[in-house]
Amino acid sequence: MQLAQLGELGLIRRLEAALQGQVAGRSILGVGDDAAAFPPPHTWVLATTDSLVEGADFHLGQVSWADLGWKSLAVNLSDIAAMGGVPQYALVALCLPASVEVSAVDALYQGMLEAARSFGVTIVGGDLSASTQVVITVTLLGSQPEGWDGYDGLMRRDGAQPGQQVAVTGALGASAAGLRMLTRGERFDAETEALLRRFHFRPLPRIAEGQTLLRAGVRCAIDVSDGLLRDLGHLGHASGVDVVIQADLLPVSEAVRRAYPQGWRELALAGGEDFELLCAAPSTALERARRQMDTPLTVIGHVTGPGSGRITVLDAESREFHLESAGWDHFRS
Ligand SMILES: [Mg+2]
Repeated sequence: MQLAQLGELGLIRRLEAALQGQVAGRSILGVGDDAAAFPPPHTWVLATTDSLVEGADFHLGQVSWADLGWKSLAVNLSDIAAMGGVPQYALVALCLPASVEVSAVDALYQGMLEAARSFGVTIVGGDLSASTQVVITVTLLGSQPEGWDGYDGLMRRDGAQPGQQVAVTGALGASAAGLRMLTRGERFDAETEALLRRFHFRPLPRIAEGQTLLRAGVRCAIDVSDGLLRDLGHLGHASGVDVVIQADLLPVSEAVRRAYPQGWRELALAGGEDFELLCAAPSTALERARRQMDTPLTVIGHVTGPGSGRITVLDAESREFHLESAGWDHFRS
């Protein structure tokens, strides 16, 4: 059955049923009224929004609807993670063509609810519009962790200082490797293919890690969505500093190195959507954070001094490493 046959009201009833049971009792007023209502948190509110647009951010032939649902929430979760925040409530605005199958929307919500449950988020409302292409917009609200409040109790982009180390959680390049594999139609062994697909379509936002970094004394972070160099550039620009990183320190999984023996450095430096956390902090704070999390936290460079956000990449012999691949030029344009 297509949405055209089910109709808008039918779809609304169906989604309301899918979202029932997220919250017990009468603690909040969620879907089904003109607006959601819930008590305020005891901290500053964090708010972020992001859209996934068919043709620009994804292609329906490549991604499953459930993965699309997961990712649409995950990209927003990552922004809350980058602030050290706790995600709480989501609003979902969907633009859908009438020809979309009802079962596709069911799967979309299934994936979204899976991500919501995994990270303690309640979907409290949304909007439906008919359109010629699929657009999924999620707005996510959150708070600061318990015991934190106000402007200084956040990880911001403008807090990097000369002498601080620069570190990144997890590993880089796998999501971009997955996208490259799918776009070029390249084949690897089944395990590698599954892993690259998962990193691209089911990214794991670093919610717990963000709060651990904040508690350990880190006050400057950004999530890696545009690619390491670009996001580090944003951080450096906001902080008014320059940064040097070492290419041989980049954490890149064995699977990515094997799949792209020539291109893994470029994928790690310029590929996007890793959704890892990139931070600048004194080494003592990073050491404290490392002791409190299972996820790897790798120092990849340091803040050199005041500047305009210039990022220098050095190779193992301390020579400047230049990204001259066509891929990097494409990212630049
Ligand atoms: Mg971000």
